[in-house]
Amino acid sequence: MSPMRHLHLDPSKRQPLLKDQESPNEAPKSVPVSKVFTHPKGSSNDEDASIYFIGTATTVIEWEGIRILTDPNFLHAGDHVHLGPGVTAQRKTNPAVDLHELPSLDCILLSHYHEDHFDQLVEKSLNREFNIISTPHAKDCLTTKAEPFKAVRDLDFFDSMMLHVDGGGHTNAGGYGKVRVIKVTGTPGKHVPPGPLSIANDLLHAVPPTNGWLLELGHSYKAPTGGDPESIETGYRIYISGDTLLVDELKEIPQRLGRENIDLMLVHLGGTTILGRSMPLLMVTMDAEQGLKLMQLMDPDVTIPIHFDDYDAFLSPLSDFKKKVDEGGWKERVVYLDRGEQYRFKVRGK
Ligand SMILES: [Zn+2]
Repeated sequence: MSPMRHLHLDPSKRQPLLKDQESPNEAPKSVPVSKVFTHPKGSSNDEDASIYFIGTATTVIEWEGIRILTDPNFLHAGDHVHLGPGVTAQRKTNPAVDLHELPSLDCILLSHYHEDHFDQLVEKSLNREFNIISTPHAKDCLTTKAEPFKAVRDLDFFDSMMLHVDGGGHTNAGGYGKVRVIKVTGTPGKHVPPGPLSIANDLLHAVPPTNGWLLELGHSYKAPTGGDPESIETGYRIYISGDTLLVDELKEIPQRLGRENIDLMLVHLGGTTILGRSMPLLMVTMDAEQGLKLMQLMDPDVTIPIHFDDYDAFLSPLSDFKKKVDEGGWKERVVYLDRGEQYRFKVRGK
């Protein structure tokens, strides 16, 4: 495990997201929300953070002015993505917003370098100085292009990075300051079923290595002597599965968390099934049944399914997952967001 790395995010010094924007101030002030959801047991009336669902695995996670964009895909219905040699998929839906309609952002969290998570239009349009956190594989790809990305950080499984979200100088005069931080940890993901297939060359080109993420939103104390805080009082914990199958490696996540619980899980479903030139039909993301088993494994307070109906390669419909959830007695712990809808929650401990 590498030592903790730090990234200071200062909303007053944001980079524009897009190449053709002079400044982030050109961006809209907020995302267009069509409907708001809160905890299934009722609103606490003090929510200060949110998840906005754009489509596929694209979301905006926001906490009092800090905004993180996940897996940016802004293609439209009818557009195709290339997922590897001889493997394509067609988009069936439109994103809730277009790239130019996004508010200014602090960083992108990219689970893996695959076109349905980072499409070619996004790749062409992004400001090369914009902060991206992703896998070592994605970092290699993005930083060695003819027009390389210059602010990519990589996290391997269980490596963490501390995002300092209140800028650099934030201590109270002469004392200890309570500062907002987001700890980002890469978690295991496996896009390819274990066994002989996972070493087939074709497949390795078709299906890049992928991360899931733990995002811990909370507070840290900064000593007056300086020195970067590494410990965090977590006020809300989000687990994002990434494009993974239900594999044994995922068991390490609750094991490492011990008694700490997951407040919110964003699960990539869809039962994505691909067919390559020299490959059999192969499922590379969780279907309804695996999604329910993942809920049982992670035991999150609330689950929100994403990545479930945007491509023709997503063969496991959301209705199957709903049925499993209802049969399994988990109905009260799942929130279903449509594109353009937002889930609001409270980060404890302020
Ligand atoms: Zn995907």
